[in-house]
Amino acid sequence: MTPTGTLDALLVEERVFRPAPATVIEANVKPADLAEAYRLAEADHLAYWEKAALELEWHRKWDAVLDDGKAPFYRWFPGARTNIVHNALDRHVHIWTKNKLALIWEGEAGDCRKFTYFELYREVNRLAGALRALGVSRGDRVCLYMPPIPETVVAMLAAAKIGAVHVFVFAGYSAKFLRERLNDSKARVLVTADGFYRGGRCINLKAVVDEALPGVRGETAETVVVVRRTGDDIDMQEPRDLYYHDLLRQESPEAATEIMEAGDPLFWLHTSGTTGRPKAVVHNHGGYMVGASHTFRTVFDIKPTDIHFCTADPGWITGHTYGVYGPLLTGATVILYEGHPLYPQADRLPTIIERYGATIFYATPTLVRMLMRYGPQYPKKRDLSTLRLLGSVGEPLGPEAWMWFYKHIGRSNCPVLDTWWQTETGMAMISPMPISVLKPGSVGKALPGIAADVVDDKGQAVPPGQGGFLVVKKPWPAMLTTLEGDDAGYARDYWERIPGCYFAGDVARRDEDGYFWIQGRADDVLNIAGHRVGTAEVEAALCAHRLVTEAAVVGLPDKIKGEVAKAFVVAAPEWRAAFADADAFASELRAHVRRELGPIVVIKAVELRDTLPRTRSGKILRRKLRAEELGQALEGGTGEEE
Ligand code: ATP
Ligand code: MG
Repeated sequence: MTPTGTLDALLVEERVFRPAPATVIEANVKPADLAEAYRLAEADHLAYWEKAALELEWHRKWDAVLDDGKAPFYRWFPGARTNIVHNALDRHVHIWTKNKLALIWEGEAGDCRKFTYFELYREVNRLAGALRALGVSRGDRVCLYMPPIPETVVAMLAAAKIGAVHVFVFAGYSAKFLRERLNDSKARVLVTADGFYRGGRCINLKAVVDEALPGVRGETAETVVVVRRTGDDIDMQEPRDLYYHDLLRQESPEAATEIMEAGDPLFWLHTSGTTGRPKAVVHNHGGYMVGASHTFRTVFDIKPTDIHFCTADPGWITGHTYGVYGPLLTGATVILYEGHPLYPQADRLPTIIERYGATIFYATPTLVRMLMRYGPQYPKKRDLSTLRLLGSVGEPLGPEAWMWFYKHIGRSNCPVLDTWWQTETGMAMISPMPISVLKPGSVGKALPGIAADVVDDKGQAVPPGQGGFLVVKKPWPAMLTTLEGDDAGYARDYWERIPGCYFAGDVARRDEDGYFWIQGRADDVLNIAGHRVGTAEVEAALCAHRLVTEAAVVGLPDKIKGEVAKAFVVAAPEWRAAFADADAFASELRAHVRRELGPIVVIKAVELRDTLPRTRSGKILRRKLRAEELGQALEGGTGEEE
């Protein structure tokens, strides 16, 4: 844990944005509803979540909303039976959404495939039947090593439908990472694709699988189901490798849905590996379903007419919750894009928004900064008038990127929902709603039913304005149930660091209005001349400079001062015209940070970089920068090193 004492709060951001009257009138959750939701959640936490659970169909209702007898191994909805796929798919076939579009997919070359709920249902049933025929049954793991293509969504749902647990390995991970995940999961079936397109290249995914498989143990991956996406020549090894399309041809478009206990596992998914080795988080059918569905309906304000463009790969939690399950549970239409966000040029995402008339655009700060770097002329070329909500997740967005997103993608017309959550939380926890007053750089208030707080290392709440550890004081439905194979680690890392609280691993402050401001990771806190400072505010200040595109700040040991801060900056190319050399530019940036944040934050050194090191999911890897500076190996690795 970080040194004791409170965290300095540096950023002063006073702009506020009020919702347009039409947004308030049309919102699913209007101001009076929100007030009532907070009142109910405050008065009776479990009654609030029980009400949310009643929005869904269950084969058997719960004996209790929550069993906390074995805390922190909380059991939501014990005794209840359901299957998330019943609610995400089967149910729609009997109502008006049957012939509504569930999925719009666009390939990198511009090819497009669309699935109605009924079509998706039939395809999922065929794969469910095929998986059953391969001997997969309830509780077995199915490993998915898939690019962003429709069959990926089909595979997730088919596994869940028959009660198997999907273990997704993002297609950017190496053969070694895949092999380890196969061995951990002992998945007898692996679903993959021959390849996919990204950045104008055809990536041969099957070759990575072929490299991974020789090292797997026992019966693991005895069958590999291969989706033909690129049609390239690949090695198919009989009898192990089977083409998806051959397999499905013989299957019935109907398949029974396995009725699961609410607490049965639905999937394992790894965290991004930003602060250490990726952790295998376990989510279940019941609680996860309630959290995903409820937050998608309320936070994303989903309406029958919406088209939700979620840029996250299905292989990350955002893709799982708000790219697949949340939208399907609420009968929405979702866009999935295969390729690189800047291919063939920087207007690709705006072009997709225009082409399908997307109404909600859910992106990441990394993406927003990428678009910023290329300039507003790209989104300006496209008709983005269908958009009504913007969302961001994954890293601090910062006031500058927030404003750019709001202005140039949202045309100063769409609320920006900066949603704070984690692989572990399964669902958005702290976020504005469309009706909220917005403050650029803040993630808004804790959602109703989420007991988020900011505390010191003893668990005492710190006063407004002061920084501390971000915790959650009560369990919530979509919470992780454990870390796979590591119950002790789950209890220790999340629930014992600050007794009785879920420890998120982030530092934050809350202002007088109850708005949260994420200051960074607890592991990255800087200690500058006795002041504890989160990285996010310093990075936001650097990014506020017109010549800075991206920034990362790390603390380095110093003989005299204990620790000094070093900034790594990706600069806009124009800096060369404005300054004599890198030293002069660095001095200006140091002075700029001082002007923005006051004299506390002394940046000892500024290094210009072409790019910053990132995790596979695109987040800044500060620990890698620190390790490089110290000439050390990367602690915990990225999960991929030999
Ligand atoms: P690891 O846990 O392996 O270190 P990770 O924490 O990056 O990786 P994720 O679960 O993908 O893995 O990300 C959750 C984290 O992302 C949060 O703890 C937080 O630090 C950051 N985050 C998510 N949303 C936001 C947001 N809106 N603003 C600021 N930070 C965010
Ligand atoms: Mg994390």
